[in-house]
Amino acid sequence: MITISEARKIIEANILPLPPATVKIEEACGLVLAANVNARYDSPPFDKSAMDGFALQVDKLISCQVNKLQISQIIKAGSVPKPLEAGTCAKIMTGAMIPAGADTVVLKEDVVEENDFITITRDLKKEEFVRIRGAEVKAGERLLDEGAILNSAAIGLLASQGIVEINAIGTPGVAILSTGDEIIRPSKGASLKQTQIFDSNYYILAAGLSLLKLQVKDAGIAHDDAGVLRSKITEVLNSKIAIITGGVSVGEFDHVKNILNECGVKELFWSVAQKPGKPLYLGITEAGNLVFGLPGNPAAVATCLYEYITPAIKKMMGYKNIWPRELIAKLSQPINWKRDRTEFVRGIYKDGVAEPIPENESHMLKGFVRANCLIIAEPSESYEAGKPVTVHLI
Ligand code: AMP
Ligand code: MG
Repeated sequence: MITISEARKIIEANILPLPPATVKIEEACGLVLAANVNARYDSPPFDKSAMDGFALQVDKLISCQVNKLQISQIIKAGSVPKPLEAGTCAKIMTGAMIPAGADTVVLKEDVVEENDFITITRDLKKEEFVRIRGAEVKAGERLLDEGAILNSAAIGLLASQGIVEINAIGTPGVAILSTGDEIIRPSKGASLKQTQIFDSNYYILAAGLSLLKLQVKDAGIAHDDAGVLRSKITEVLNSKIAIITGGVSVGEFDHVKNILNECGVKELFWSVAQKPGKPLYLGITEAGNLVFGLPGNPAAVATCLYEYITPAIKKMMGYKNIWPRELIAKLSQPINWKRDRTEFVRGIYKDGVAEPIPENESHMLKGFVRANCLIIAEPSESYEAGKPVTVHLI
């Protein structure tokens, strides 16, 4: 049995980022840039008005103490203006090009407009409400750095430069296999027979992974029969990541680990000093594919998803910060049940306070629904109300 921090080190040491690929920007949100991207254009690409108003030349107005001007043209966004006639102004729309000879925009709200003339009712400031060409970005300069995680703003920024494809680190395909004679798939009209339970684990994992936009392959359910399991396991080992739930513990019919061993999978660890999820298994195939073996209890599966599987996937996707965000919080109530391993206690974190959720057994999902963090409770420590505790946001 290894500790949680040893398990983390093994993940960090054995999982490498996937090779980069060309990706359309529409499909790139959440991916990590594999190469720097430089700007193709100045941004803004031309001097433009930030507001609806009137473009004019300020210096002359101030020196001549003029506050009444004729409107000599109207400039729409997208149209090319004529140079500004001296001593006049141009009615201009937001986003339209500033005409040559103008340097400032006065807001529509700050003038009185009458019969093709405006009277300015406010002091002017040179260059106000003008967005200068290249003020934000100059053509050729760095737009986004290699290693950047592409969020919506980054995708929009790329689009603003006319860049529609980028080089990003790939995402792993994941196959999910549930095991157990007692497990059936929920479906419309399906009902449980005497000893059966519905498969929660496939859904927990597929839902979690859908947030990372991975390709998930549903390998179905394998019964606890070595032959059936072997053929299903051989199949899922072809995916970059295989996740197998159930059958990885020490029960008489827990064949998964032996079969993985027979299939030539190298064990990186099995059994972590934690609750839930003690029998967690991680292995690697000769081709470098990963296999997670998870205990069957659904809360253990959800915990391992947050604590290990998502971080491992993020590592493959080139993320630098892969572990759940960690904070110190004050415990709102004591955790007074006995622990013999480090426990991930489901909790609700708010404003620096962590409230433990009492329904914390590994088969229980109902309380987990409310959780937004896991509180780390060590076996040797006592956890009275007010104690500072480490929480992992999930
Ligand atoms: P195991 O790890 O196979 O010993 O299973 C541990 C517990 O988890 C047992 O009570 C199983 O019935 C339950 N279990 C296993 N697989 C699933 C699943 N896919 N969905 C819900 N519960 C499961
Ligand atoms: Mg089982």
